[in-house]
Amino acid sequence: QDKAAAEKKEPLRVATNATFVPFEFKDDANPEDYKGFEMDLIKAVGKELGREVQINNLPFSGIIPVIQQGDMDIAAAGMTMTQERAKNVLFAAPFYESKLVILAPNGSGITSIDDLQGKTVAVQMGTTGAGYAEQKGLNIKQFDHNSELIMDLQVGGAQAGILDKPVADYFLAQDGKGKYEIIDIPDTKSEYLAFALNKNNTELQKEVNAALAKLKETGEFQKLYKQWFNT
Ligand code: GLN
Repeated sequence: QDKAAAEKKEPLRVATNATFVPFEFKDDANPEDYKGFEMDLIKAVGKELGREVQINNLPFSGIIPVIQQGDMDIAAAGMTMTQERAKNVLFAAPFYESKLVILAPNGSGITSIDDLQGKTVAVQMGTTGAGYAEQKGLNIKQFDHNSELIMDLQVGGAQAGILDKPVADYFLAQDGKGKYEIIDIPDTKSEYLAFALNKNNTELQKEVNAALAKLKETGEFQKLYKQWFNT
């Protein structure tokens, strides 16, 4: 009976940018597969709702527009809840507390945001990191994908990047090990990451929040969190 009901429901159309490790990414071994904490979380939410999850990979800056146009149902893209964005989309309950940081090669001498004046700073277009760098009047280089931002640092393009801390942490634990460092930005506040929905879709917002609450109750949320963040 449950199965018949599930078959009648529309698939959940999910928009992501799969370069936000360890929240959403693809690996070379399974290029069709979407991996990461937020991908596992949205799949678990889909299961709770009895809806098939269809994931679509877009540049980050293209995600709010497709949600607004109703072409996608939900953004699972490491999206920070900001007041500005809340004018255009609805946010579900936050699932992660993040922060902006500077990522720079070891020995760069960069110790604060002021040291970035006169340098080139890599950011991902449309992100809070890009907005912050712009607001500080920094000379920025914008990329569609976080992976490109990091690659630019590695090939000696930009001298530093501004991005979300968990992504920088992950890079330092992997490819960037021993070669890069994270510099705090004390004047920025914590940011809360959440799924984003169409402004009119309060129904889905309620369902998603109920599903998230359920996943926390059953411990499934905590299990995924531990699996991806090792804490
Ligand atoms: N959390 C940041 C933002 O919302 C970055 C998101 C991302 O790069 N996917 O702007």
